[in-house]
Amino acid sequence: MNVHDSSRMEEVLGLVGYARAGSPETSDLIIVNTCSVREKSHEKVLSALGRYGRLKQAHPGLILAVAGCVAQQEGARLLERVPALDLVFSPDHIAALPELVEQAGERRRVETGFAEPDEYQFLSARPGRVAGPTALVTIQKGCDNNCAYCIVPSVRGPCVSRPRDEILEELDRLTAAGVREVTLIGQNVNAYRGSAGTADDFVELLRAVDQRWGGRELARLRFTTSHPKDFHPELPGCFRDLACLCPWLHLPVQSGSSRVLEAMSRGYTREQYLVQLRAVRAAYPDVSMGTDLIVGFPGETEADFLETIELLEEAQYDYAYSFKFSPRPGTAAAGLRDELPEEEKARRLKHLQQVQDGITSQRLRSLVGRSTEVLIEGPSRKGKPQLCGRDPGNHVINIDDPEGRFAPGDLVPVEIVAAGRHSLSATPIPRQLEVMQCSSR
Ligand code: SAH
Ligand code: SF4
Repeated sequence: MNVHDSSRMEEVLGLVGYARAGSPETSDLIIVNTCSVREKSHEKVLSALGRYGRLKQAHPGLILAVAGCVAQQEGARLLERVPALDLVFSPDHIAALPELVEQAGERRRVETGFAEPDEYQFLSARPGRVAGPTALVTIQKGCDNNCAYCIVPSVRGPCVSRPRDEILEELDRLTAAGVREVTLIGQNVNAYRGSAGTADDFVELLRAVDQRWGGRELARLRFTTSHPKDFHPELPGCFRDLACLCPWLHLPVQSGSSRVLEAMSRGYTREQYLVQLRAVRAAYPDVSMGTDLIVGFPGETEADFLETIELLEEAQYDYAYSFKFSPRPGTAAAGLRDELPEEEKARRLKHLQQVQDGITSQRLRSLVGRSTEVLIEGPSRKGKPQLCGRDPGNHVINIDDPEGRFAPGDLVPVEIVAAGRHSLSATPIPRQLEVMQCSSR
């Protein structure tokens, strides 16, 4: 969500003459776009602001701004804590950024709060500035759930679904500009209600996109994040039936214990979750799946934790993002008694990550020898001539390209030759050629 918002900020500021600086030292405006899902990110923001604030000594005209969820959460308090800060603005005010920056150059400025749901304007990518073959498209903003640990609803506001026609128009422009892969994003895409307002709206949106561009201009469609509570029974079949829908599903479970899930107000049990997971695997056995997990939620016992470990063994996720519970201000869980010592939370997290690392390695190794297709995104971490991209299952794949044959946006058929800890290596499959001699004798 923040990566998407940062791109929109660059675009609206591009219209009034800003271009990417390349380094903080040469910038006239620095925006720190923030996340407040866990406390650690909050601390990082303050230290980044301290660092960038010092640049004002050499460049007094520099404007320093904070965007994102910490901006919404802290508002004017941030101006008090950070004297070098000029502007604080929350995600609903990105479109007004040019005026806000101009005003902040004269007087310190705070612009937070939410737009009225029926007045909320979704920002589209500007086709002239589309960077690369992949794009994120927002289909929903905010969240109406009340997961006990989560600060998102209070910093992103109520859930607003983007009208379906608007989404399709943006996709039209993106595909025309050469985008091959689109990820539809929202905090709970399964609760998308942007056309008929019925529970199958999201499934219908996927079908509409596939019908219009699937397998042609748009090679790949993905979505995230999917909440199990609003999972529609027709979703699993979409992985089998829709040409452009990638066999990849991120389905956060948070805990393997129904007792903890109830305390978290997640709205499903372990068993209900597993039924969904099995339905997806039955519809598309090769699907790649990932999840989010929280350990050490208040009241989580050793037995609850072991249920989470068992669930990992059963689910066989390709990857999992896992976190220690972090109490967030204003959430229901912040008021619960949190008796588990920090060392015990750390032990559980380490144990869980070791188990998942073993599963991830095994899943990646099982892909060696298979053929797949990589959408090239750019140089790998090692740099050129190695390129990096993803397969339909969202696995990161590196390929050597010493002759410089491939460019971002190419879909390259490959054979997977090796598995690392979190990525795969592959070699391009040569196109088949036969030269027939035909003589007159
Ligand atoms: N909307 C998404 C999640 C957004 S937050 C969903 O419902 O799945 C991303 C992840 O951060 C969550 O899935 C959760 O695992 C983690 N998270 C959120 N709040 C947290 C907290 N207070 N402490 C630890 N992890 C948290
Ligand atoms: Fe947070 Fe739950 Fe909403 Fe996800 S669904 S953003 S975890 S409140």
